[in-house]
Amino acid sequence: MSLTRNELVEQLQRELELPDLVWIERPTLIHARAEGPGVCPCGCGSQSGAEPGEWAATLVETRPGPVLIIDRSSGARKYRAYRGDGTLRGQGELDAFDALRESCEVVSLPKRAYLAQLLAIEARPKVKGVFGGVRAGKTECLAEEAVDV
Ligand SMILES: [Zn+2]
Repeated sequence: MSLTRNELVEQLQRELELPDLVWIERPTLIHARAEGPGVCPCGCGSQSGAEPGEWAATLVETRPGPVLIIDRSSGARKYRAYRGDGTLRGQGELDAFDALRESCEVVSLPKRAYLAQLLAIEARPKVKGVFGGVRAGKTECLAEEAVDV
């Protein structure tokens, strides 16, 4: 007996106990230099030591980003902010969309950046140059932008 692709996907999901729906979220986590010792609460692993010279990055602002749900079986994608025809969803639809979150596998892809990096990440010129010193975050900018494209 030969199974179709969708039947194979459903069989694997049952075996792996995976939900059909995947919730993808991409909040923006703005960082700044810490003003004391501690560990950044966002999960990035940034640790600041006791001395001012050892203060690293810490979370200062969280901005919501795009959210979408992907159906593993069909591959269908639904964006939280707008319908398939591009019109914006009303508050009732947003609430219903949000209620689906608990039945989904949640995948969070936060965009972590300093404010100056965020400007470079979100700029869309034809040609872009990012300049900075050693460990200034140039590579991190490009990595975050690659996820957004
Ligand atoms: Zn952090």
